[in-house]
Amino acid sequence: MNIKAMPVGPIGTNCYILEDESSRQAAVIDPGGDAPRLLAALKGLDVRYILLTHGHYDHTGAAAELAAAFPGARVYIHERDYRNVELSLFPLQTQLSSVDFYGEGDRLPLGDLELQVLHTPGHSEGSVTLRCGGVLFCGDTLFAGSCGRTDFPGGDTAKMLASLRRLGELEGDLQVLPGHMEDSTLSRERRVNPYLRQALSGGF
Ligand SMILES: [Zn+2]
Repeated sequence: MNIKAMPVGPIGTNCYILEDESSRQAAVIDPGGDAPRLLAALKGLDVRYILLTHGHYDHTGAAAELAAAFPGARVYIHERDYRNVELSLFPLQTQLSSVDFYGEGDRLPLGDLELQVLHTPGHSEGSVTLRCGGVLFCGDTLFAGSCGRTDFPGGDTAKMLASLRRLGELEGDLQVLPGHMEDSTLSRERRVNPYLRQALSGGF
């Protein structure tokens, strides 16, 4: 498994390129902008998926350009965020002609790897966390030392705390790759992240 993090777009959203090295199959997670840079980074890879952790523009801005460049790749988003046109200045329905919906428990094969979908609402109704082995791609749910905002359309603080609790209760020391800022680990976040600690204490 090879993971490349690329800050993209106007606010430096973390886009991740996940590659199965044996097959060179790849998934692009949250292509928020800078399509030309992403296309250059994806040269030589067999791009199978464009995966959106949620529908905000800073995570989806280059999805349509990548989908056009890789007609064999499937675009996945949770249906709740696709349908919520309030989420973005540029609703995805007007940009992407063909999408697939994923949700809780879905599994996507990528060469020898497998991505597992966890529905983690709170930042938006359709926010998901993607797990691949010991790695969590958290979108705007769990950040290093923080969590995503819940004051956008579809945001819900109680659901965020429930989602954080669920992530915090996953076994083992998983790697946390968030949609913004630096990466972390689950064991570190269990110690220092006030939101995760509140969620795990059940005090809500
Ligand atoms: Zn967001």
